Amino acid sequence: MIQTTAAKHSAAFPPGSALIRVEHLTRAINTRAQRTIILDDVTFTIPAQRLFAINGPSGSGKSTLLNLLTGIDRPTSGRVIFGADELSASSENALARWRGEHVGIIFQFFQLVPTLTAMENVLLALELGRGGGLPRRAWRERARMCLETVGLGAYLHRLPSELSGGQQQRVAIARALANDPPVLVADEPTGNLDSHTAHAVFETLASLTQVGKTVIYVTHDRELADRAEARIDLLDGRIVGQHGANARVASSPEAQS
Ligand code: ADP
Ligand code: MG
Repeated sequence: MIQTTAAKHSAAFPPGSALIRVEHLTRAINTRAQRTIILDDVTFTIPAQRLFAINGPSGSGKSTLLNLLTGIDRPTSGRVIFGADELSASSENALARWRGEHVGIIFQFFQLVPTLTAMENVLLALELGRGGGLPRRAWRERARMCLETVGLGAYLHRLPSELSGGQQQRVAIARALANDPPVLVADEPTGNLDSHTAHAVFETLASLTQVGKTVIYVTHDRELADRAEARIDLLDGRIVGQHGANARVASSPEAQS
């Protein structure tokens, strides 16, 4: 039997163990005129199969950090150790392949393909991720299951334009689940939804830790951040507060632990 990446991960990294270790991570941008430090010596860990928040006001470096965690961006110094893999050691091609197997990404503005139905959007992810090891004949059933998991079993053949904002974000969550990655990351996943819908979509995302996923989300909403089982608070690229993340907290007037 094929053992999926997710199954290997949940065996090697039981709930609460350190799945992602971020060590002295710094990201600076150099222009001719100046050097801007976007993330400054950030150290913390993300526990496996938990709900983890990266919290902070706009411009604090949340999206930059998320892109470093998933190998989309590269650090100026420091490192990210994701499970058994050190990301900075890999080539672009290896990283892209690695990302397809390990991470499902959910965006604030859904990013669905507008000409494809809910089912076809999820199937496209399976195509791109080669089904996470599942044989092609099982993909339709897999796509249906992912959409049922997020409560869209009755909307398989709707186009994004025929779905509400909340339903579109649910399709995006189903798509992120398609190749059964151990980790889901979401950048302000409910930032484009009304508060009632946001709450319901957040509940769905949070519930995925119960099926073994590590769920990492970015938010500037304190209330939403408080829902996490572990959390870091960023301000101006530094960690100024944390809960359950083994983080090194920068000394700052706002620092708290
Ligand atoms: P957040 O997601 O918390 O709003 P970002 O990670 O997007 O913050 O950005 C953090 C800071 O870094 C912001 O001040 C932003 O303007 C700056 N920044 C991000 N990317 C770049 C870039 N490629 N070039 C210059 N500045 C950048
Ligand atoms: Mg952002």
